[in-house]
Amino acid sequence: MSKLENSEILQPALLDILKELHSQYKSLKEGVVANYIPELAKVNPDLFSICIVTTDGQIYEVGDFQQLFTIQSISKVFVYGQALADHGRDYLLTRVGVEPTGDAFNAIILDEQSKRPYNPMVNAGAIATTSLIKGKGATERLNRLLEMYRRYIGKDIFVDISVFTSERSTGHRNRANAHLMLNFGMIDQNIEESLDLYFQQCSVMVNCRDLAVMAATLANKGINPITQEQAVDTCYIKDILSVMYTCGMYNFAGEWAYKVGIPAKSGVSGGIIAVVPGQMGIGVFSPLLDTRGNSVRGVKVCEELSQRLGLHLFDCALS
Ligand code: GLN
Repeated sequence: MSKLENSEILQPALLDILKELHSQYKSLKEGVVANYIPELAKVNPDLFSICIVTTDGQIYEVGDFQQLFTIQSISKVFVYGQALADHGRDYLLTRVGVEPTGDAFNAIILDEQSKRPYNPMVNAGAIATTSLIKGKGATERLNRLLEMYRRYIGKDIFVDISVFTSERSTGHRNRANAHLMLNFGMIDQNIEESLDLYFQQCSVMVNCRDLAVMAATLANKGINPITQEQAVDTCYIKDILSVMYTCGMYNFAGEWAYKVGIPAKSGVSGGIIAVVPGQMGIGVFSPLLDTRGNSVRGVKVCEELSQRLGLHLFDCALS
């Protein structure tokens, strides 16, 4: 029996918990919205939503769960899965490591010895990962990523052109990372095309429910629990969840693993996904960020959900 069933949380009680957490943390106004991407600075900082989708397809949601926002770094998880599917684990490991950095998500660094970016969850590693997405030219590569998102979400999604152009015209750190990798022969010559694809994958529009469905798909062996479509081969789930667990929350990943204890990924627009394997996907959206680029309310909500539902993977007290 799973922990969730064990803890006898009845379905209405789960919604009640979400409502309680939403009203408790609505008044928390700490943090600032991301402003290094000018378009993101325009967001309403009060937006706040929480959604849980279980692996048997039940949906629990509160707050502004219809509100669209750009997925940003949460995309890195799914594009990593696509790169694994395109090239396999062994080849991917030669191009991108799986080691946490302890540095900021946008740090301009590579592993000294191997010249690989540290992991696919930080910007350098994500750009390298995106550069490996197969396809004949920019349009086919973008269409393959949009099709990948469709499998995870269960509907067509679109790139927000103003966020994309805003990122593209200001993403000099990302460009610096790409040039550093080009210098060491870690990505191919066509870096502008890969950078565009990276900025586009970050600029697709999702809502909080979409995030939870995507997370629930990872929790459900790669099968979307609403549409039953296989979004990614089950054999790659352990690779994806492992790097989320150790690297998904950047230089907060260790504390997150200790306190919350489930694989997760955040993005600078204020989204967080968290995955409870075999049980559920969690999505939280609130644009106010801490200094590491993680949603302040999102972290609080996940900490509390983990405690109250007994979600920590290593919590033997509840098994
Ligand atoms: N598109 C953003 C960037 O490259 C993603 C960063 C993030 O969400 N942490 O800077």
